[in-house]
Amino acid sequence: MKVGIGYDIHRLVEGRKLILGGVEIDYPLGLLGHSDADVLIHAICDALLGAAGLGDIGRHFPDTDERYRGISSVELLKEVASKVRAEGFSIGNIDATVILQMPRLASIICLMEEELAAVLGIGREQINIKATTNEGLDSIGRGEAIAAWVVVGLFGSEKE
Ligand code: MG
Repeated sequence: MKVGIGYDIHRLVEGRKLILGGVEIDYPLGLLGHSDADVLIHAICDALLGAAGLGDIGRHFPDTDERYRGISSVELLKEVASKVRAEGFSIGNIDATVILQMPRLASIICLMEEELAAVLGIGREQINIKATTNEGLDSIGRGEAIAAWVVVGLFGSEKE
């Protein structure tokens, strides 16, 4: 068993769609970034890459590369999952915490889990997404940013 951790944060700004866990959410602000800035998927990618010993998302998809401008992070996640599988790993479980003051995610978490499980080709029971506010503290608490922490467990490489 290999364990990986991922963290990401993006600013909330006007004029961008809010996409979290591959799901578009109706909200007046969206996350700023080179891709669609899906902070949850980026943290999942880093946790998967970390567990597999494959570096980080910036190494595989540099934000200086025009190919990734505006790209759906679902596409990045598919590519990360195939790199991880190519190393002989299979996904055990994914546990995520999204930290945001607004909007409320309770009614959307099921959709995000379904979407991500489908993208990764894993069962719904293998992915768990939680949401918490920042109690009004700091930039996240002021609604200026959304962050995500993710821990992933991979089953061992056949190469070992
Ligand atoms: Mg990011």
